[in-house]
Amino acid sequence: MTSERPIRLAVIGAGPGGYPAAFLAAEYGMDVTLIDPEEHPGGVCLYRGCIPSKALLHVARLLRESHEAAAWGIRFGEPEIDLDALRDWKDRVVGRLVAGLGTLARQRKVEHIRGLARFRDAQTLHVRRDGELVEVGFDAAIVATGSLPLAPGPLRVESPRVMDSTAALELRDVPKTLLVVGGGYIGLEMATVYSALGSEVTVVEMTSGLLPGADRDLVAPLSRRVEDGVAEVLLDTRVTSMEDVGDAVRVRLQPATGDEQERMVEKVLVAVGRAPNTADLGLEHTGVRLDARGFIEVNAQRRTAEPSIYAVGDVAGQPMLAHKATHEARVAVEAIAGRPSAFAPAAIPAVVYTDPEIAWCGLTELGAREQGIEVEVAKFPWTASGRATTLGRTEGVTKLILERGTERVLGVGIVGTNAGELIAEGVLAVEMGARATDVQLAIHAHPTLAETVMESAEVFFGQSPHYASRGRGGPASRGPIA
Ligand code: NAD
Repeated sequence: MTSERPIRLAVIGAGPGGYPAAFLAAEYGMDVTLIDPEEHPGGVCLYRGCIPSKALLHVARLLRESHEAAAWGIRFGEPEIDLDALRDWKDRVVGRLVAGLGTLARQRKVEHIRGLARFRDAQTLHVRRDGELVEVGFDAAIVATGSLPLAPGPLRVESPRVMDSTAALELRDVPKTLLVVGGGYIGLEMATVYSALGSEVTVVEMTSGLLPGADRDLVAPLSRRVEDGVAEVLLDTRVTSMEDVGDAVRVRLQPATGDEQERMVEKVLVAVGRAPNTADLGLEHTGVRLDARGFIEVNAQRRTAEPSIYAVGDVAGQPMLAHKATHEARVAVEAIAGRPSAFAPAAIPAVVYTDPEIAWCGLTELGAREQGIEVEVAKFPWTASGRATTLGRTEGVTKLILERGTERVLGVGIVGTNAGELIAEGVLAVEMGARATDVQLAIHAHPTLAETVMESAEVFFGQSPHYASRGRGGPASRGPIA
């Protein structure tokens, strides 16, 4: 788009899709208005999601390690949990980060209107701010309104005892008993937090395993640890009804086989997925189209069916991950700036911040099977890792998913402590089209957990110094190099 005056860009929603879009557009010289109801940019991720949950998960890890240290000869007394101070610390973490984004918005001269936006047409928004209506005209708009917790049928109960992730993160109290509906990202992360703080947690998952989309060999060590102290896990079980009975919630559970059961619990957390947030946006006044699941339809530039309107993040499709939103924001802004751009990642990392963490990127084994892609899998168990042994955390596994015939790294999966940090190397390997040989011959520091990525490649060639495997023979075995 070329014009005399700067492009007027309106960004709706200031989460990890919206604020990076606004900031980059400002760097490109656009005249940017960022619209969001909160005081500062940050969105659900900073205010009520990624950041507060990670602050609490850090505390959960500390509590758990302080117990486990007894096995290494270090005994601490029982921890005293000052819930008000803990909540305060979590809120200060959030406050500091969102205030920082507010300063960055001002420095970049991004106008932040605090309110809720609705499209009037494909060039105009109405923003409701403190009862008054502000009109915002735009040349281009980016919808980055995120998602909302789902609560279908019997799980929709109005009660302070039935929480969604937002309420769970407020940490009003630590219930004696907590039933978590959904063994996905949120259910497992919050089960980790509340059980560390002292709740007796039951996780109810309707499918036959936790984290249904992840490879089973990665989930197995987590499942063992969860069942071994964190929570009771009921698989293949549905919640058929919930009722607030005053001082408890009565929950009826239907296992796939067997009789209905009843549980009385102090609180319930419903974490059965999220839905794109498109209601009340006035999209009906534009040409924007939704798909069958309610996501905004976008092309490779994240442009919707209405040429002036783009959409990024949870509202524009799976996976609903903050970093995917941020990358899409770049793609959309560059397209609006008239630069060549497309959303075509080879690897989007997924990290579940449980204990141990699970992380994967690119192709999974499940995905390879579903798509009929022929792969070879090289796995390095952390029992053979010096670093994991020093940490007392040998339950981990690192694996490479390699294209058969070319050894190209198509995916990486890791379960183990700090897997969420380690997966970055996997993303780079997949995006750069690395082969197993590249990973094997890149020197990794010893002793580190990152070495397990290199050692997986060593396993592939049958040359791991720390783990005996029957591999295919490495570069050296292929004869002299010309
Ligand atoms: P999810 O899709 O990860 O998990 C929902 C789980 O609930 C699934 O295992 C599903 O089988 C189960 N389920 C659905 N209906 C059920 C029922 N009636 N009874 C019992 N189980 C049922 O969803 P979530 O945990 O709510 O998280 C939503 C999204 O938020 C995730 O998909 C993820 O994209 C994002 N998120 C990411 C992170 C992270 O990156 N670490 C953390 C939290 C949330």
